[in-house]
Amino acid sequence: MRPLATMPADEATRVEALLFDLDDTVLTHGRLTREAYDAICDLAGAGFALVAVTGRPAGWGEIVARQWPVDGVVAENGAVLLYRREREIARELRHEAPAVARRRLDEVVAAVRRAVPEIELADDNAARLTDVTFDVGERRKLPADRVAAARAAIVSTGARATLSSVHLHASFEGDDKASGVYRFLALRRGLEPAAARVRCAFVGDSENDAACFAAFATTIGVANVAPWVARLSVPPRYVTSAPMGAGFAELARLLLRARASSA
Ligand SMILES: [Mg+2]
Repeated sequence: MRPLATMPADEATRVEALLFDLDDTVLTHGRLTREAYDAICDLAGAGFALVAVTGRPAGWGEIVARQWPVDGVVAENGAVLLYRREREIARELRHEAPAVARRRLDEVVAAVRRAVPEIELADDNAARLTDVTFDVGERRKLPADRVAAARAAIVSTGARATLSSVHLHASFEGDDKASGVYRFLALRRGLEPAAARVRCAFVGDSENDAACFAAFATTIGVANVAPWVARLSVPPRYVTSAPMGAGFAELARLLLRARASSA
């Protein structure tokens, strides 16, 4: 990872869309700061396309897609796409969350509880359509070896496990954040992956961002990505000096400056 400030001007000016993680990237310990929201408004005002790419539920993504100045949201780690279509919010899933998937997810919960009895479900499951999510760092911190045991229990059921700084997700969907955002960009901007790879930048902070760090040419970690780097197959290309929302604002300033000086 190189300091963000070393990003060449031509690389920064090539960015037309910014894809961003929410928790511990735009949000600071779960809160949207004035600095981070100003950065989003400034980017939108300058004409950048903005897409939130999050492990958070479809129900939360719908609020962001409805209220924030963004093109849309890729929620549940790539499984659900949300965007404004005239006066409503459109929702695209690969499968319409059949009851059988829910039953299989109930079996996953049972398997995880057998392996890690003290684990608790995240408090946002009611808003989810495609996965089940455990709290490993939001309301309480689960030790790393217990997270590993929960993850092994998920995988033993045939589900996929995805870890962020706050949550451990279990899903039978095939998407990850990168495939979800590629679907979004093709659908909403007509961008094929090869073009998206160089015309979009991605900013994130943890393991569930790994697919996007590998999928895009210009990738940025906020400073708090550091403890996760050893577990990323491809680390972000650049790192901000500030953590979380302040790091996101640092990136926004760089992109805005580059665009202003190239105009
Ligand atoms: Mg995050």
